[in-house]
Amino acid sequence: MVINCKEIADEIIMKSKERIEKLKKLGVYPKLAVVMVGNDEASKIYVHNKTEACEKAGIETEEFIYNENISEKGLIGAIENLNSDPLVTGILVQMPLPKHIDETEICRAISPKKDVDVFNPQNFGSFMLGNKSLIPCTAYGIIKILEYKEISLSGKNCVIIGRSNIVGKPTALLFTNHDATVTLCHSKTKDLKSFCMNADIIVSAAGVPKLVTKDMVKPGAVIIDVGINRDENGKICGDVDFENAEPLCSYITPVPGGVGPVTVAALINNTTELAYSKII
Ligand code: NAD
Repeated sequence: MVINCKEIADEIIMKSKERIEKLKKLGVYPKLAVVMVGNDEASKIYVHNKTEACEKAGIETEEFIYNENISEKGLIGAIENLNSDPLVTGILVQMPLPKHIDETEICRAISPKKDVDVFNPQNFGSFMLGNKSLIPCTAYGIIKILEYKEISLSGKNCVIIGRSNIVGKPTALLFTNHDATVTLCHSKTKDLKSFCMNADIIVSAAGVPKLVTKDMVKPGAVIIDVGINRDENGKICGDVDFENAEPLCSYITPVPGGVGPVTVAALINNTTELAYSKII
């Protein structure tokens, strides 16, 4: 069955909207600063989708777009200005950044109190330890999809494909904290198929079209397709050979209209949470 992720995103956004209205009555106005470097077309689309959705939910947004030649020091300075701006309650830095900028240093520069994507090592560490903390947006979206469909992670064999700090690693940690047995696969994994064939749940976040084919899917498995790619005809597609894998799955998320909108909803949730911490 194809999961209707829009329904899940709408539910998360609706709950956040109610909280934002309460916040505004208390004089707190959530504002998200979105920092982007360079002119990457895909990043521009992601940023536009995020800011549009935030505005609809009642979160003010402001984009800070820098030339791709900005120095690391310059970008850190810009983030520090946002850290000390009392009107900004959340900061999002759109990744990836140009090669000459060390992403770790940028993540470290974001104030933990305004870090909507859990990029700061202090926040990520807290999340890793399973403490009460924000959850990185895509991992949060994935867990909400599973919860909505009442798919338990406890004791399940889960394969996560991709080990990025933004998607793969946090999802693997979150699944571990939910009692799943997790195998984290990546580009150096030998025989990906052998791992996938035994998986109850596959999460693919590799960015490779048709990486997961039907012969890799155990009948009844759940597939969460995080990938956003272009196929040979220029159409948006995920990492999974959807057409052929879908009949085998108990549940599968589509691309587009799958994890993407729920990740945006997660951003709205996290921005709302951080604004709330101003009053408690
Ligand atoms: P990344 O490039 O940082 O990481 C990709 C990971 O995939 C790496 O760990 C790499 O080892 C692994 N990989 C690459 N080729 C592989 C292969 N052939 N076999 C096994 N593993 C392989 O990417 P990312 O930022 O984690 O994003 C991954 C994908 O998810 C991209 O398509 C991105 O656009 C998409 N994405 C979607 C959302 C969303 O909300 N839907 C959010 C973030 C990223």
